[in-house]
Amino acid sequence: MESPRAIVHFDLDAFYCSVELLRHPELKDKPLVVGGRAEQRGVVAAASYKAREYGIHSAMSMFRAQQLCEDLAILPMQRAHYQMYSRIIMGILKSAAPQIEQVSIDEAYLDFTPVITEWHDVLDRVKTLQMRIRRDLGLPNSVGIATNKMVAKIASDFQKPNGFTVVEPGHEAEFLAPLPVSKVPGIGPKMTLRLNELGIETVKDLARVPVEVLTKKFGKWGCGMADWARGIDDRLVESVREAKSMSQERTFSRDIRDPEALDVWLQRMSGEIGRQLGKEGVQALTVQIKIRYPDFTTFTRQMTLGTATADPAMILHTARILLGRIWQPGTPVRLLGVGCSNFSDSAGQLVLPGLQ
Ligand SMILES: [Mg+2]
Repeated sequence: MESPRAIVHFDLDAFYCSVELLRHPELKDKPLVVGGRAEQRGVVAAASYKAREYGIHSAMSMFRAQQLCEDLAILPMQRAHYQMYSRIIMGILKSAAPQIEQVSIDEAYLDFTPVITEWHDVLDRVKTLQMRIRRDLGLPNSVGIATNKMVAKIASDFQKPNGFTVVEPGHEAEFLAPLPVSKVPGIGPKMTLRLNELGIETVKDLARVPVEVLTKKFGKWGCGMADWARGIDDRLVESVREAKSMSQERTFSRDIRDPEALDVWLQRMSGEIGRQLGKEGVQALTVQIKIRYPDFTTFTRQMTLGTATADPAMILHTARILLGRIWQPGTPVRLLGVGCSNFSDSAGQLVLPGLQ
């Protein structure tokens, strides 16, 4: 039998807040959030665990967060600073594991398989790594150790903060069984609802449904779900670092209803995305827009072009068409966003988005 892989999912805990606490140790005992100001209709970008005790979470409006906790400390985003810490940490992870795949500013998969002789050897290595980042850098982090990416990811989230969760080879399905299906990456809120309607609540319930039934109901997704429910995931830890999508969005401090004013924002955002695409040397095949109304209903629309582009004028043109499909001129708009995905490099080589 092939020996099991040793895959780790590493995730910093409340990353932006943890970095801010290094700069503002006096806030250590206070509930803390990082994000935009309430009077500019900002949202919470990250909430410390103390703030979460008040029911505050990221993406919540800052106004609401302040209502929930009067004593809340609020700091503005310092993206460059977080990026600097991220680079240091990713550097440390790279020196520890032969294969690493960074998935976001504060998250990475590591594959230790080639450098260990026995599966359990990975535990000591990861413990050392976790302590090093917690003690030397002062940044709390959680790890999940398993035989594949999906189980490792769920494990790292299992006992945050400072989690160290090990799922031994052969125990994947058992670990997942009691969890709600929504815990499985790839099963989003909509799919969770559909599954719940069928009486499927836990991963165990999902694993009981015959593959043919799932495939019949959900097509190729069904096939994937059947694997996930059994703790099977063959994806490799790949060190490709290509961006999977790019987007710009803006919550307006006052709702916009004027078509011309909105178009100015479309122009700015399309221009910025074109600039980013140029910088990365990639072209995008798909353009999407996002719109949110004052009652928080949100719509997105996307269009796949005949040929990939990095041209701001083409992005703008497409964004305008898409906006025309979902926006009635004169209706107030709270948020507008433009994005691109489906990248290819300048040689026309498709940069395939990996499953996360
Ligand atoms: Mg994190």
